[in-house]
Amino acid sequence: MTVLGPLEPAALGYTQTHEHLLADLSGVLGSSQMTSGVYAAGSGPAALDVEFPATVRRRMHEPIRPDNYDWIRRHVTNVDNLRLWDEDEAIEELGHYRLAGGVSLVESTSIGLGRDAEGLRRVSRASGIKVIMGCGFYCQPVGLDQVPREAIRDLILKDLREGVRDTGVRAGIIGEIGLSDPIHPTEAKVLEAACEAQMSSGAALQVHPGRSPESLFDGVDRILATGVDPARLVMCHLDRTLTSPGELERLARTGCYLEFDLFGQESSYYPWSDIDRPNDGTRIDWLGELGEKGFGDRLVIAQDICMRAYFRKYGGPGYSHILENVLPLMRKKGWDAADIRRVTVDNPAALLKNTW
Ligand SMILES: [Zn+2]
Repeated sequence: MTVLGPLEPAALGYTQTHEHLLADLSGVLGSSQMTSGVYAAGSGPAALDVEFPATVRRRMHEPIRPDNYDWIRRHVTNVDNLRLWDEDEAIEELGHYRLAGGVSLVESTSIGLGRDAEGLRRVSRASGIKVIMGCGFYCQPVGLDQVPREAIRDLILKDLREGVRDTGVRAGIIGEIGLSDPIHPTEAKVLEAACEAQMSSGAALQVHPGRSPESLFDGVDRILATGVDPARLVMCHLDRTLTSPGELERLARTGCYLEFDLFGQESSYYPWSDIDRPNDGTRIDWLGELGEKGFGDRLVIAQDICMRAYFRKYGGPGYSHILENVLPLMRKKGWDAADIRRVTVDNPAALLKNTW
């Protein structure tokens, strides 16, 4: 189910399973999402009180320029960087994706991240890229404390079956559903509602886990305890959450999809947790090891572009980075055409197959 209507899974073609085209992450500045890193102070609720130095505060509000580009890409905390709200810019960036061989992508922006159903329909039409839209709620959703779980479930089902509000634009996947570390009570309720909607609709469920292995496995346990088929579950952002082949294998044994979606973010430094991130070469090695262990049909990849500093226009790698740079690296490391096709075409098609 794309924003322009249903498709045969075979028509999806090359698909990155976690991107953002229209989104606004500026709300995370100063929230408890920013509890770590050099420029955030404190942790937990105290992080709401973050005091940035004056020079940082100024940088947070500068437009992206060559002289602040490296700082913004490294530290993320810049309003201009975090607002993807220009449809023309999204269309232009998708032009590079299309030229490089991109056909489809999952737009994982959920409610709370500035999802825009009609905007996505226009961007898809103008760019020629098939866009599968998400639904449900991101981390620490506002205003849902008193909303019953059933109402959240029904909203997700409406987005899938009828479309967002009165737009007629239907979601094709549930997610990304946001979880914090530890899982917030409202997030737990949303997660349960999303699981119920998954089982009722059959749509795949895409989950953004908390930023620690413990928190990720807590989320997975809760999801599978509801009865969700692991073959309909995607765990995102593993390349900022799990740090060893052992942990990855433990997750793979549950039967869920493993998403390495931070390709192109080749900085070990990660401002939002204390993890040292892998580079693209290590990501490929980990994927290869999982494939050798028999989990090859559960691997998907993406770039999770949610910052404008990653756009080509500003000097970033753009949505075409995997196509232009990562696939050649995979070939160099011994992947054959079938290996690459499985991760970029066949697995996304199986995952996104909807039966409602
Ligand atoms: Zn995302």
